[in-house]
Amino acid sequence: MQTTYHYTDTLNHLVRLPKDSDLLQTIKNVCEEKSITSAVLSGIGALQHATLSYYDQHAKKYEERFFDQHMEIISLNGNVSLREGEVFVHIHVGLSTETFEMIGGHVMPDTKVFACELHIAELKGENPVRKYDDATGLYLWEK
Ligand code: ZN
Repeated sequence: MQTTYHYTDTLNHLVRLPKDSDLLQTIKNVCEEKSITSAVLSGIGALQHATLSYYDQHAKKYEERFFDQHMEIISLNGNVSLREGEVFVHIHVGLSTETFEMIGGHVMPDTKVFACELHIAELKGENPVRKYDDATGLYLWEK
């Protein structure tokens, strides 16, 4: 069954993240400071290193990998919702390496910003809430 939320009011924020900050934690901090609990995220920039994960759908667990290299953020997409009453930031990135190859995945802690221009489209109204989903093993939006 699908879960749908509707919004008619959006407040846009453009945020430059500081060099050497942790991507996930800094976005969470910004959202908490501005009381943003529902948003769509997009951005570009560069990272000094990244920790990404891939969700193994059979094992129902994340496989994590550390990329100790400088990379461009070609695409950062994500969203903000609530999980167990806390702001939960979910981000995926597509990154390019110095050899112009692409890697990507689900962003984990220990992902270090070189520069990042972030667009937070804050959605005013209902808060999407994440609850554990047995079928996938993930915390997904559920009313
Ligand atoms: Zn993800």
